[in-house]
Amino acid sequence: MPESQAKDVIFAAGTLMPVSSPPLQDGAVLVRDGRIEAVGALVDIGRENPGTEVRFFPNYTVIPGGVNAHAHLGFRRKDAPEGGTFSGWLGRLIERLPEKEAWTAQAAHDAAREAIEAGTTYMAESSPYGECLPQLAESGMAGTVFAEFFPHEFATPEEAVGFMVSKAHELGEGLPERVNARVSVHSPYTVDPESSRLAGRRTREMGWTLAIHLSESPEEVEFIKSGTGGLANIFGSNEWGGAGVSPVHYAQSVELLAPETIAAHLATGVSEEDIEILARTGAAAAHCPRSNAYLGCGVSPVPAMIDGGIRVGMGTDGLWSSPSMNLFEETLFAVELHGMSGAAGLELATLGGARTLGIEAETGTLDAGKWADLAVVETSSEDADPWRDVLEAAAGGGVAATVVGGDVIYNRLGR
Ligand SMILES: [Zn+2]
Repeated sequence: MPESQAKDVIFAAGTLMPVSSPPLQDGAVLVRDGRIEAVGALVDIGRENPGTEVRFFPNYTVIPGGVNAHAHLGFRRKDAPEGGTFSGWLGRLIERLPEKEAWTAQAAHDAAREAIEAGTTYMAESSPYGECLPQLAESGMAGTVFAEFFPHEFATPEEAVGFMVSKAHELGEGLPERVNARVSVHSPYTVDPESSRLAGRRTREMGWTLAIHLSESPEEVEFIKSGTGGLANIFGSNEWGGAGVSPVHYAQSVELLAPETIAAHLATGVSEEDIEILARTGAAAAHCPRSNAYLGCGVSPVPAMIDGGIRVGMGTDGLWSSPSMNLFEETLFAVELHGMSGAAGLELATLGGARTLGIEAETGTLDAGKWADLAVVETSSEDADPWRDVLEAAAGGGVAATVVGGDVIYNRLGR
């Protein structure tokens, strides 16, 4: 266990925003064994714990760390395929998969670093067969790798799903305490119905969460509805399209939607009926608005989903469809897109992501009992909307330190 977890420490700031309760001036959290032991005024926490080390950031705001509900680490910013349309972009991505092998690991390392330097403390990462797990595990962040599998590479759905479940178990061995491996059904146009159904059943039996991309693009809507368009033959021959329904409806029909399911995007063609299906099945949503904008995928009906009781978190997606791994920048984009308040945005980026991933008892707010996952953000003082202020600051490079489970994994202040 790192020494930093071995003794108590108090993190304090000019403003402490627990998210679950109103901001505290000169607020503090007492951290013991990586978890928050107490939250309150620095003067009280300090008096009750004499001799405990205090790390005080007087001109900063401390917020819960960002919980990224949908990301891909294995991409780099400098040579992203052209956007505009989803199927065109995906075709260009697939063409470059062989070339990409040479630099995926370095990209994943760099992308994780970028996320940490932007205050991310938990990341749900999706990559083919979990290829970016080493970089996530080494990064210091907590997180889950959702290993994507592609059934066209196997003889039968049973073989594909059996392989992927064993592989996820294998990936999960020897990991840091707060990193794990799960399965992702990549999408309705790459994974056939029977493999989808089996993967959903097998993972739920083990109480695992399951990540999917769902209702992302106009091309996906067309493929599922009519069996035509740019995704009809993206990997092998996808003969299961043309179901005559929406992707959400289709996902329900193959038993992919459940409280364990995290559906990324839900950007194109999500109807009121789809929202009712998502609410009824308990599936959660990961909102990636900048990726959706880049790939011509429309606007996810996030306010209606939230009103409908659907859990929504934020996701950056990866650097080939999104300009940064900064979750707070992604969230600020969403706040502007949907006309949300700064407070609602900060909640989406933190508690919203934790609820989406089913880990809200462990992280997402600054409350006693949860892991000490937090970001120290340089904010301007006396702003009329302190939530918007901290979101803008964190979006704009203002994160000065990032703490995961009480360990300082990034600190540009040197104190
Ligand atoms: Zn994605």
